[in-house]
Amino acid sequence: MQKQNKKSAAALVCAAIMLAGCAGPENKITSSSFIAMDTYISATLYGDNGKEAAGKIKEEILRLEGLFSVTDEKSDLWRINHTAGGNARVSPDTAEIIGKTLEICEKSGGALDITLYPVVAEWGFTGNEYKIPGEDILKSLLENTDYRRVKVTGDTVSVPEGFQIDLGASAKGYAGDKIIGIMKAEGVSSAIVNLGGNVQTLGAKPDGSDWNIGIQDPFGEGYIGTLRVKDKAVVTSGGYERYFEENGKRYWHIIDPSDGYPADNGIVSATVIGDSGMFCDAMSTALFVMGTDKSQEYWRKHRDFEMILVGDDGTVTVSEGIYESFSPSEGVKVDLIK
Ligand code: ADP
Ligand code: MG
Repeated sequence: MQKQNKKSAAALVCAAIMLAGCAGPENKITSSSFIAMDTYISATLYGDNGKEAAGKIKEEILRLEGLFSVTDEKSDLWRINHTAGGNARVSPDTAEIIGKTLEICEKSGGALDITLYPVVAEWGFTGNEYKIPGEDILKSLLENTDYRRVKVTGDTVSVPEGFQIDLGASAKGYAGDKIIGIMKAEGVSSAIVNLGGNVQTLGAKPDGSDWNIGIQDPFGEGYIGTLRVKDKAVVTSGGYERYFEENGKRYWHIIDPSDGYPADNGIVSATVIGDSGMFCDAMSTALFVMGTDKSQEYWRKHRDFEMILVGDDGTVTVSEGIYESFSPSEGVKVDLIK
């Protein structure tokens, strides 16, 4: 028996926006929502220029989806994966996101690895035809993975023969950053967007106060708490976002490069808070793989982001810089890391 779940982010989105509160009567509000990048996307823009900007946002996301999709035969990713062993010419956006994601693959010591795609696909997380691959299959697929062998030179990307990459871990964050840029250019100064669990805020709420972002309870429907932010990206990677169950065991879509199985190192949800959506997206996936101890070690060493980790034992760990901005829900105990 297989149970599957591709969490529609709709509930989360509604909550995030509800929590965003209401603008005063003098403020125009433009809301837009649609499905793209395999997820539910919504944006709420405040002020006079919202309508124009909302149209451009959607166009931009569809454009990026067209470049980064692993399944669309016209995409840059398709071309890279089907020119393995040679050089593929790509758009500046594709070269940029791959270059920046590779930096985090490196910094995370390979916890993040964009060349895991053949493994992700074998589990069925691309087409939603889930299955548990045999150990020997995973072993042989892992031989053709290693982010260090992906080369970006100007607008050319090359991967060795037999390699395939995917940007599932950072594409929504990259799109979020682009959207924030578009809104700024259009003169919007207050907005909140949610790309399937990636929340990005532009400025503060129209009344100047912080946005309140609900942090999903990975064990249930509610929230473990709310976080007050402005001008920040808040990105969560969770084992509850896309998974299937077989014989009572849950298998999720974030894979541990060390063995090819769903990462199970003590973390059930990792939220990263920072300035760049792409950085936070890639980093939240990386922390999920690193697990509790390594994530804390990593944070203490780098301190260039904030985080909220939920452990499989229910513990909630919050980094120092956002400790005061995080209001835990009733009954939730918070450990501070500093
Ligand atoms: P979501 O898309 O649900 O927000 P993530 O940002 O954590 O989740 O990205 C998960 C996606 O990243 C997977 O669907 C897969 O395509 C890819 N992926 C899975 N494991 C890894 C990994 N260790 N390194 C890089 N990419 C991964
Ligand atoms: Mg991610």
